[in-house]
Amino acid sequence: MKIILNGVQSNLRFSSAHIIPGHESCGYIHGHSYFVDVEIQGKRVGKFDFVVDFKDIKKYTREICSKLDHKLLIPIYNDLIEFEDYKVDDLFIEKLKNQKNVDFKIDKKRYSIPSVDCVFLPLPYTSAEELSKYFTDILAEKLIKNYVNIEFISVCVNEGIGQGAMFTREMDYEKY
Ligand SMILES: [Zn+2]
Repeated sequence: MKIILNGVQSNLRFSSAHIIPGHESCGYIHGHSYFVDVEIQGKRVGKFDFVVDFKDIKKYTREICSKLDHKLLIPIYNDLIEFEDYKVDDLFIEKLKNQKNVDFKIDKKRYSIPSVDCVFLPLPYTSAEELSKYFTDILAEKLIKNYVNIEFISVCVNEGIGQGAMFTREMDYEKY
């Protein structure tokens, strides 16, 4: 069985700014009012015969939305973003967060933005495609700790009404 959460109606939303470096029209800082749809497929189990508790899905999804809400999303693995003093390692995000300002270049444009205004993401792009995978991976990690019956998780990140990307991940319990 599959349970479905509608992002608009369940209030799974965030509003963020982003930039798609190198893209003709999206290569400028601009924003979206995103909403996130979630589908979970699995066996019905437990006292209540649930697939999953809606409450858990909403909580975990909203935690991710809150992290991204009202921030500029910066994909640190984008080849066109030149950070000052860049080193690809696990500590780079922490380092950027601890700086007062983050300085980077895209093509000939130079940016200096307060770090508190940004969220640094371990992604090559902040497209709907990459964000849907990002949400799915985090949700999978949370759910794997509390559920043993889930088969698939799908997350659709919508950049607006009628425009979204859905990523589906099969739950591989043996991997954890
Ligand atoms: Zn955009």
